[in-house]
Amino acid sequence: MHFHIMTLFPEMVMNGLNTSIIGRAADKGLLSIEAINIRDYAFNKHQSVDDYPYGGGAGMLMQAEPVYQAYKAIEERINYEHKGDGGGCEEYMPKKPRVVYLSPQGDVFHQKMAEELAQEEDLILLCGHYEGIDERVLEEIVTDYVSIGDYVLTGGELPAMVMVDAIARLVPGVLHNDVSAEFESFQDNLLEYPQYSRPEIWHEKQVPSVLLSGHHANIEKWRREQSVIRTAKRRPDLLEGAELTEDEKQLAKEFIENEVKNA
Ligand code: SAM
Repeated sequence: MHFHIMTLFPEMVMNGLNTSIIGRAADKGLLSIEAINIRDYAFNKHQSVDDYPYGGGAGMLMQAEPVYQAYKAIEERINYEHKGDGGGCEEYMPKKPRVVYLSPQGDVFHQKMAEELAQEEDLILLCGHYEGIDERVLEEIVTDYVSIGDYVLTGGELPAMVMVDAIARLVPGVLHNDVSAEFESFQDNLLEYPQYSRPEIWHEKQVPSVLLSGHHANIEKWRREQSVIRTAKRRPDLLEGAELTEDEKQLAKEFIENEVKNA
């Protein structure tokens, strides 16, 4: 998978993503991440890319043309590379890559969205700054509007890094053990069960005995119950979309009733 991040702050993005698991995956060639400096596509000698908004109002706006030219350069390169893959096949149809504009006005990012975007071969992430970007270029190039939460940040760089991290770890081979991406929070609309490591007793707290029993079926049963209880406690809104057995529904219901009683 190839991530192309359009930004005014390429070092910020690359410094953040070149480390740890994602950085190692890029080194191994499991994925690639590039930051494209929109300023390189400025059309004036001062390399400025922002201007005042028509109609007045606070702040500056990123202009359409540098964003458009930066996008066209990536699109051309992606298509050139794919054409190469196809052995110069004459029927090759140019691809319109998916372009995500990071925006507080977008759909709020979630795990299912990460899973869906992880299927793309190329993903362009467009980071705004100042008061945002001229609407006209967004209309022409953007396919998805994504927010990372209902608050306003100064730029799209941190949201882009959040998205790359969440998507990249779903690319096969990126995690040390692929199974570890399968049984995590939000799988089946449930949060993950509590986990413990050595020592067995810490601050007089004992690891639940079932986890030391070596009995896999019992361990699985315990983990599933803990997931249901934890979700009922911390994110009851998720339970609506979870596929629960009658016993599990009862478990969640009892937990919630107890919480109400003890409140
Ligand atoms: N004026 C814009 C508005 O009210 O919708 C906000 C602009 S914000 C100060 C500057 C840039 O930060 C945006 O263009 C966007 O790329 C990014 N940004 C800010 N908050 C974000 C969020 N919650 N999720 C994703 N991107 C965000």
